Amino acid sequence: MTKILTVGEILVEIIAATKGDGFREVQPLTGPYPSGAPAIFVDQIGRLGFEAAIIGRVGEDDFGHLNIARLAADGVDVSGVDVAAGEATGCAFVRYRPDGARSFVYTLDGSATATLALTEAGEALMGSCGHIHIMGTALSVPGMAGIALQAVDRVKARGGTLSFDPNIRAEMLNKPSLQEKLMGLIDRTDIFLPSGNELFHFTEAADEEGAVHELLSRGIGEIVIKRGDKGATYFAPGAHLDVTAHTVEERDPTGAGDCFGGTFVALRLAGEPPETALRYANAAGARAVTEIGPMEGASTRAELERFLEDAEARR
Ligand code: ATP
Ligand code: MG
Repeated sequence: MTKILTVGEILVEIIAATKGDGFREVQPLTGPYPSGAPAIFVDQIGRLGFEAAIIGRVGEDDFGHLNIARLAADGVDVSGVDVAAGEATGCAFVRYRPDGARSFVYTLDGSATATLALTEAGEALMGSCGHIHIMGTALSVPGMAGIALQAVDRVKARGGTLSFDPNIRAEMLNKPSLQEKLMGLIDRTDIFLPSGNELFHFTEAADEEGAVHELLSRGIGEIVIKRGDKGATYFAPGAHLDVTAHTVEERDPTGAGDCFGGTFVALRLAGEPPETALRYANAAGARAVTEIGPMEGASTRAELERFLEDAEARR
């Protein structure tokens, strides 16, 4: 079985207990929850029982400890997580507005999370894993991008594969040379996992069919467009599959895309056909939104099977 590697941010998320506009008043909070898009992605893979590892960095504090303990408990190889003495783990404070939009306060800049150092264990993972997954967020942080791209080079040079989720956030688009890095990665991607309009960031075509055609012609093997509560669509040369989303109570949408992606990539690498990977990924995304906390809704295989059986029975 191919071991899956990712590189990027490991942080805690602290969530406002009430809906409203940001953090300019005293208010109840819940957390800390383990978080960071790449961390959620590999945690989901670990919970499914597949091999995964992350190269990241945390401070020597309770927030770092919480993350490492959760990833390890879920079966993720945390040997590549560097613990930085005297530094603090990054935090994201998030509050939902009544319309579902989110406001964030990030304390990543200057935290241990935002500056990766290449360790011996990290190098060993680049030399042994057969697949690398990159989140656009890791490319947007200057202290992470170099190591993320080095991991891509090493894994691809050995004949490994790359999955890429642009995970574009408005705050990151003004980062220096990000566009160049995103475009450089797309042409090396085997499995592309954009959500909604992110597709058009990479294409000249401004309609979905044209954009998908353009990317497949450039050599991307498979594209899965994530559409939130509208489900997802899979494309490959000559193939097009749609899934409708499951009807669930959405309590916290953060992390759904990462659980979806982790499930899809792990199952495809395990040799499952696209239909099966898409069906399970759609279930993983749906389950993820029903739990408060971005990593809390990651699923085991048994949980996905139960969920899919129940969904089938409700039809
Ligand atoms: P994020 O980056 O915030 O984690 P994303 O934009 O990458 O999210 P989404 O499209 O929000 O990803 O979610 C991924 C998948 O999870 C969807 O394609 C769908 O299968 C499932 N999903 C998401 N939201 C819901 C929902 N409200 N109800 C049911 N399924 C959902
Ligand atoms: Mg996403």
